[in-house]
Amino acid sequence: MIQKSTRLDNVFYEIRGPIFEKAMDLEKQGYRITRLNIGNPAPFGFDAPDEIVHDMIVNLRNAQGYTDSKGIFAARKAVMHYAQSKHIQDVTVEDIIIGNGVSELILMAMQALLNPDDEILIPSPDYPLWTAAVNLSGGKAVHYVCDEASDWYPDLADIESKITPRTKGLVLINPNNPTGAVYPSEVLDAIVRLAERHQLIVFSDEIYDKILYDGTVHHSTAALSNEVLFLTFGGLSKNYRAAGFRAGWVIISGKKHVAKSYIEGLNALASMRLCSNAPAQFAIQTALGGYQSINDLVLPSGRLHKQREVCYEKLTAIPGITCVKPTGAFYMFPKIDTRKFNIVSDEKLVLDLLIDQHVLLVQGSGFNWKQPDHFRVVYLPTVEELTTTLDKLRQFLADYDQS
Ligand code: PLP
Repeated sequence: MIQKSTRLDNVFYEIRGPIFEKAMDLEKQGYRITRLNIGNPAPFGFDAPDEIVHDMIVNLRNAQGYTDSKGIFAARKAVMHYAQSKHIQDVTVEDIIIGNGVSELILMAMQALLNPDDEILIPSPDYPLWTAAVNLSGGKAVHYVCDEASDWYPDLADIESKITPRTKGLVLINPNNPTGAVYPSEVLDAIVRLAERHQLIVFSDEIYDKILYDGTVHHSTAALSNEVLFLTFGGLSKNYRAAGFRAGWVIISGKKHVAKSYIEGLNALASMRLCSNAPAQFAIQTALGGYQSINDLVLPSGRLHKQREVCYEKLTAIPGITCVKPTGAFYMFPKIDTRKFNIVSDEKLVLDLLIDQHVLLVQGSGFNWKQPDHFRVVYLPTVEELTTTLDKLRQFLADYDQS
């Protein structure tokens, strides 16, 4: 028997896990599955802006060869300007690495840093790639709680209580996947002060930073201090609906002078994978400098905003379900009354719903949430489809009892 590496023992990515595979099996059998499980805008009719696609096509011949490992100059320069527009100080093109999406850069950031048992503080719930990347890199993911009763903001006391001499850094996901929370500057400021006191690296995943509702303003964490090292992550997958192009970046800022060795490690990993997907790199400058069509989608008249309203109204009208209304991204993380439905396993709940109604969600535990009382909904489908699907969920729960 050929065994997988033990390095993968604690590496999970439930968004594409066994329940997802079951859904794919059902699709092969001819069933139509409504996918409220993956944050992939294109299949729901959210096209990437034409000018981005056009630029990739025009530049295809220029993109035949390997590029600089850290990315083409034009893309890095555009990201540098973007960093400046978000008030991140002292960033040059050398402080930017372009990757095959943020996913690759998260893995590189952890692999370049961690030694066995080094700890990284990660939110619970989280986007699970963060936990998986820490575990794969031989580190230890320590989860801090985000507090549902406080609009899902990070619980500072919990963070502080979990810092040990082995804590190397802290992850923030803002706007958040799966809760949709966007953190106000006071919350970020308090976290940055804590990072300064304990000299923690701050990894700020800001891939949804343009998907904001109700006039919410996004603040880049890295703008708040020069006294800690920041790695800020962004990309084209969500703001520009171009997830398949695989284009992301990391901006290194703040206390760079104490991190020469770590930065060398990051550059070494970037060199080892030669370069990121070159055609997509040519789209970055156009995307960042062009018309920001995402703004139209999040206005009250826009598709994403309307879908958020319907999703929230439909979900919270179901007896036994409550939800904090998100102000960013395109996810909701509702709470389900486990006593009412005798729920002991959120995985079983999601599987039962899939088999019964052909609706695919992801269980809260897939986001490193410890109780079986949450699930994530992706509200990318149309208002009509969300309405039908959430009616099915209501119908399913009307007589659901897991005992
Ligand atoms: N970070 C967060 C919070 C995400 O939700 C996702 C994708 O869903 C990613 C990173 C990965 O994005 P990319 O497509 O750039 O690899």
